[in-house]
Amino acid sequence: MDDKEMEEKYERTAKKLRALGIILLIVGIGCVVTGTADLIISSSSWEEPTLFWLSFVGFPFIAGGGICTSFGFHKKVSGYMMSQQAPVAKDYANYMIDGTSDSVSNMAGKVANSVNDSSKVEGVDANTCSKCGTHNPLGAKFCSKCGAALTKKCPYCGAENDDGAKYCNNCGKSLF
Ligand SMILES: [Zn+2]
Ligand SMILES: [Zn+2]
Repeated sequence: MDDKEMEEKYERTAKKLRALGIILLIVGIGCVVTGTADLIISSSSWEEPTLFWLSFVGFPFIAGGGICTSFGFHKKVSGYMMSQQAPVAKDYANYMIDGTSDSVSNMAGKVANSVNDSSKVEGVDANTCSKCGTHNPLGAKFCSKCGAALTKKCPYCGAENDDGAKYCNNCGKSLF
């Protein structure tokens, strides 16, 4: 028997109990109201109350109805506790995980962006002309203002490095 069957069984039982409870409550309240009304009417007209006994009959009905109804609702609640709590907890966990993974991916994206930004900034800085201070776009080989070389040719391997590079990006040797 899986959770769904369990829940359905609970639900069916609870529905029956609630229906029975409500019927009993209605009958009981009807009896009490009729009995009390009869008592009031007959006492005001000095007649012997004939339906007053209904009040006494009504109370067990109300009590039984109340028990059935509360039990029906309690069953529903306990059914929910047993079968709903786990999926709800699972959903919540999933929600949390989703939220976390979202925020993690957002963070990762932000970190990646900031890394890109900083590399861009570094690139711009690296491509700042050492002669005139003009910022040149990343990858530029010559200053757009004064024409000075923005790259440093490695004396060992000939690879082109940023003007500010300290070590060759190809062979790793010092450029100073
Ligand atoms: Zn320049
Ligand atoms: Zn080199």
